[in-house]
Amino acid sequence: MKKHAIIPIFIPHLGCPNDCVFCNQRKITARTEAPSEEAVRATIEEWLTTLSGVETVEVAFYGGSFTGLELEEQSGYLSVAEEFLSQGRIDGIHLSTRPDYIDREILDNLKAHHVGTIELGVQSFDDEVLRLSRRGHTSEDVYRAAALIKEYGFTLGIQLMIGLPGDSASSCSYSAKEAAALKPELARLYPTIVLDDTELLNMYVSGSYVPLEREEAVSRTAEMYRILDEAGIYIMRVGLKSTDIIGDGGAINGGTYHPAFRQLVEGRIIRDRIEAELDSLAELKDGSDDERSVKVDVFSHPSWFSNMVGNCGCNKEFFARKYPNLNLRYRVDNSLKPGQCRVAVK
Ligand code: SF4
Repeated sequence: MKKHAIIPIFIPHLGCPNDCVFCNQRKITARTEAPSEEAVRATIEEWLTTLSGVETVEVAFYGGSFTGLELEEQSGYLSVAEEFLSQGRIDGIHLSTRPDYIDREILDNLKAHHVGTIELGVQSFDDEVLRLSRRGHTSEDVYRAAALIKEYGFTLGIQLMIGLPGDSASSCSYSAKEAAALKPELARLYPTIVLDDTELLNMYVSGSYVPLEREEAVSRTAEMYRILDEAGIYIMRVGLKSTDIIGDGGAINGGTYHPAFRQLVEGRIIRDRIEAELDSLAELKDGSDDERSVKVDVFSHPSWFSNMVGNCGCNKEFFARKYPNLNLRYRVDNSLKPGQCRVAVK
């Protein structure tokens, strides 16, 4: 049974005045109209029938920039979630918004409506990347918004994108480090996807934007994941879910979409750790005439076993190719933490 579940409510910000190159909000939310309060109530009720026994359930307002809505509209939606909160049927209210749509008036209203978590769509801390992506805000807005959110005592989340126009491996790492320094409680990492009806698609077709190869997207994301994870930040999501983007098929053009992107990233992280261990082992074995007889057990926490083996066994293949003379066996060890590995020579 899941410990934590989110009931997602998609509120398209149809009047959004911004022009982010990657955004096709209609496709992302797979909705064309903002739901009525009654529809939100019905959606929550419907989800709750499937979530009995889940320890904590949150209602989350996603899809656009929630706090860009008129305060009255925000309050209307939040009041519906509050009904469920006050009845003890949900445990928290969560929303996502832009850094430049945070000020004291907005936060006072969110506090009054018992919102617990605010996620900021930061995307990058590199101002040139933000400019080329036409985000319409700068990193200064992020620092200001994050500080205010912390001051008010909300749980802070930060969303970052990988592979936006103008970004690089170093700007991605920089963004992860800057995000970690703000001490958010949670983070999401999204590789950029080229959707239909976006400026990014035009840029892709004209050749002025080249999507990352999957390999590059995985290695950049893995580095960001490591930075955030080592700072103790809960990484709530890596990559979009198919249901986030698939509405009418054919919406993805090039780019790095993979339905198991998180597994690719976590698989890369543990692959690198095991590789470092095996490399030091291989050094020890230098000069041996018969490495084939060396049996090596590689261990992970049970929850990371499939990451250790890799998506479709890709890590096993990688190690078999790189260490043809080692006889590797893959096993679990409950004493390890998720993400850790251990290597033992038999
Ligand atoms: S990403 Fe958000 S802020 Fe940017 S255009 Fe889309 S809805 Fe508006």
